[in-house]
Amino acid sequence: MYQACAPSVVAFAALFLAPLEEAPLRMDLRLPALSSFRRLLGYARPHRRVLILGAVISSVGGIGALTTPLLAKEFVDRLGSGRPVFWLSVLLCAIVLGAAVISAAGRFVIDRTSERIVRDVRLDLVSRLLRLRVPAVDRTPPGDLMARVTSDTTLLRHATTNDLVDLVLGLIVLLGMVGFMAYLDPVLVGVVAAVMVVVGAAVLLVLPRLGAANRRAQDAVGDIGGALERALGALRTIKANGAERREAATMHRSIDAACAEGTLAARWSALAGSASGLVVQLSFLAVFGIGGARVASGDLPVSSLIAFLMYLFYLYSPINQVVQGVSGLQAGIAAVDRITEVYELPAEPESDQAVAGVHTRSGPALAFRSVSFRYTEDGPPVLDGVDFEVPAGGITALVGPSGAGKSTIFALIERFYEADAGVVELAGEDVRKLDLGGLRAEIGYVEQDAPVLSGTLRENLLFAAPYAGPAELAAAIAATRLDKLVDRLPNGLDTRVGHRGMTLSGGERQRIAIARALLRRPRILLLDEATSALDGINELSLRDAIDEVAGISTVLIIAHRLSTVTTARQILLLDHGRVRARGTHAELLRDDDLYRTLATTQLLAAAADPSPAATKG
Ligand code: ATP
Repeated sequence: MYQACAPSVVAFAALFLAPLEEAPLRMDLRLPALSSFRRLLGYARPHRRVLILGAVISSVGGIGALTTPLLAKEFVDRLGSGRPVFWLSVLLCAIVLGAAVISAAGRFVIDRTSERIVRDVRLDLVSRLLRLRVPAVDRTPPGDLMARVTSDTTLLRHATTNDLVDLVLGLIVLLGMVGFMAYLDPVLVGVVAAVMVVVGAAVLLVLPRLGAANRRAQDAVGDIGGALERALGALRTIKANGAERREAATMHRSIDAACAEGTLAARWSALAGSASGLVVQLSFLAVFGIGGARVASGDLPVSSLIAFLMYLFYLYSPINQVVQGVSGLQAGIAAVDRITEVYELPAEPESDQAVAGVHTRSGPALAFRSVSFRYTEDGPPVLDGVDFEVPAGGITALVGPSGAGKSTIFALIERFYEADAGVVELAGEDVRKLDLGGLRAEIGYVEQDAPVLSGTLRENLLFAAPYAGPAELAAAIAATRLDKLVDRLPNGLDTRVGHRGMTLSGGERQRIAIARALLRRPRILLLDEATSALDGINELSLRDAIDEVAGISTVLIIAHRLSTVTTARQILLLDHGRVRARGTHAELLRDDDLYRTLATTQLLAAAADPSPAATKG
């Protein structure tokens, strides 16, 4: 025991004297907020009975092990006096084995509880992440959010169980021992208490630094996640632009920062850890001096001083347990803070309504009434008093220069963002009053970059309508001319399409996204330049499919092709976030200069080039 704590004074001094590579200004010296500690306890609370059971089992194992020296003494005595030792040997072996098994069982119970706590936190966190509002996700790197689910929750594993148990058990044993020592001599216990207070105060100074270093280390791990996600999500772009070294350097910086902060945390942790040895050694010196004087003056029997000193050495273990528990909790609290930040991001209300939630009414299928919107409070207005109605059925085309706000209109219909002013109406109802799940069930949305998820072709097609039958699936495949692709793929519909559908061409991805939307049989179909990567033949057949859908649904297309606008029932011309003009193709061609320019440049150019950009990636 003494050897274990002897080097602590040297370590303590060395750590204080060693230069710390820490920017003092960044140091958060506040003690960890009590609320974070409470939240950490909150994770453990549902499992408290099992945790107590684990702690009790572990303690029984420990107490069992403590009896072996006494039995060993008896064993030696019996050997010396020639008495039989067979049953005593059996008892000794049974106690050693039993104590080991019981300790292992206690550890297992605690570790199993840790896994369950981490699982509960992850389950809840993942559900929360999927419900985060789109603006919140726009501002947070997904890699950092991923790190919060994976690495931060891992840090809870020890903190919510082993560290808590260590802290509580250590405190109980510590109080018990101090009680015994007070019984032996209250004066000397006062000396030990004074040493404890001084060293405890030093530890309290270290703890916030440890907490802050832990927090920064975990933030740096989050940054690595963010940098990795950025790089792997655009690997082709990085390679094509020869940016591997620069991207690697960005990641190296985050990795170096994680290492530096982790080292700093280790340093503060070691400093706090050496406190237990320091208490014992300083107390030993003080008790030796003061106790010796008291023995000399006859105030204290020498046997009491010896017993007191023995207790003092036993004190190392519980103090160490408490200190280790507290510094372990610091890492847990830093993780809790990062996890809590996810819960502070705005989220959509929970909705299990996967079916349509809007009543059919006469009147426009969709209407924007004086809608204004900006993405950020200090950003420019993206929509500025937009007013239009979309009649039920048929195709309405949205045209306008790049950045006019066309995709933003779709995002507001889906309620990815909320309008700052004005009302968006679906079938006469304010979309804000509709259940989100119900609203989105009414809409089929094919995004600009036609995302395809990793998984099989079938999973992708049925993504929006898992309930669709084989006949509906076959019809959607035929309408989007995907049948040839299905025949060509080695496992047909069950072929895996790779990360983000990378094994497919841009046109194939677009057709999959359209088939997916068609299968949903939406009341409103939103197509965001969804045919831009299709060749002329495929576009023509898709047009037939979309015309067919337009017979039963309302189709809103952000148009980049002349063929789309000429067949549209209504065209809305958007410019600088306003509806500049509306009418049919012929009317707008006749009345609006901007439309004429667009028709002869943007729309015509797309029509003249029947097979653009059907590239991968
Ligand atoms: P394009 O035809 O080029 O796709 P668009 O008319 O669809 O353009 P929007 O995508 O609606 O235009 O974008 C309108 C404006 O809003 C642009 O200036 C764009 O930079 C900005 N914008 C779009 N998305 C965001 C966002 N998430 N955060 C901040 N600004 C955004």
